[in-house]
Amino acid sequence: MLSKRFKPWHLVPFSIRYAKLRFTRRPVLVHFEVTMRCNARCDFCDYWKTDAGAKATELKSFADAARHFRPMMITFTGGEPLLRPDLEEVIAAVGRAAPITWMSVITHGAMLTVPRAQSLWDAGLAQFAVSLDFLDERHDEGRGIPGLAAKILRTVPELTARGMTVRFNTVIKRENLDDILPIVRRAAAIGAGVNLSVYTDFKNGNRAHLIDDLPRLQALVNELLAYKRRNRGVISNSDWYIENIPAYLRGEITEPCRSGETTIHIDPVGMVRRCPDFPADSHWSEYKGFAPIKCNACYYACRGEAQAPLTISRFRDLAGSTTSPHGLAETTPGAAS
Ligand code: SF4
Ligand code: SF4
Repeated sequence: MLSKRFKPWHLVPFSIRYAKLRFTRRPVLVHFEVTMRCNARCDFCDYWKTDAGAKATELKSFADAARHFRPMMITFTGGEPLLRPDLEEVIAAVGRAAPITWMSVITHGAMLTVPRAQSLWDAGLAQFAVSLDFLDERHDEGRGIPGLAAKILRTVPELTARGMTVRFNTVIKRENLDDILPIVRRAAAIGAGVNLSVYTDFKNGNRAHLIDDLPRLQALVNELLAYKRRNRGVISNSDWYIENIPAYLRGEITEPCRSGETTIHIDPVGMVRRCPDFPADSHWSEYKGFAPIKCNACYYACRGEAQAPLTISRFRDLAGSTTSPHGLAETTPGAAS
């Protein structure tokens, strides 16, 4: 099952679109950064420092860009997208412009009530991606939002019980190596999924959360792969991505980054960039693609999964998936993560 919004036969149009986009070297996944404003206080991201006045310049609609790119998947991200009271209209207009497109919102979850979630779902979403790095108050401290983890863990089971698809976006960092499997198990127990990314300090130079215990990390990787073998469909990352986390942290991944090829980001004023941490190059209407670049600053899914080979395990993931249509993880940590 993909999302409760789609049926198995939707795999056919998704697969055709995927093949066409890859053949024509157009992005499979487009992130619409609908605002850079955020009401969290993360110490590893500076988006929350965005001036409130930026609201005046945010695009009212991303529908023309959606029609232009016609990707397979679209995320509404930020900043915190739920700060926009018109998010439902933005989503519905994009859905009309690009029908049969997987649409997801990435949120810190503090404002995700059941009625708001239902109205966003009814606007056309296929998934909520909710950031969750701990199951307890450490998550609240990390985000600067009291009671956040408890609120998320109260709300998400209500959403899945109502037929909505939810995934946790979880960043593996120094402090939560022992918390990742419990998050995965909790997600499975409440009918949600998990997408993992690795903490890097590229966003604002904060090195406090960098992973320094590589033997423990390797043990976690082994545990995650073993979990995936037994339970396909809960963790949406490819086996390849997970296997290569230790190699990335040892500095052994030297391939040029292919971000900007299968995924792009369009910022709140319509400028396009290859990944959330690179400056914008041009307006989306002038997008001509991004060549691979020698950058090793992160191991976000938009970087790592773009290099993942199409293996049998990906098809097993897809067969058991409750998340995205070809298992491409649509996360970019720090962008509303
Ligand atoms: S490695 Fe790629 S995705 Fe990561 S910051 Fe560099 S260009 Fe962006
Ligand atoms: S990481 Fe996400 S939640 Fe935290 S400040 Fe940045 S955009 Fe907001």
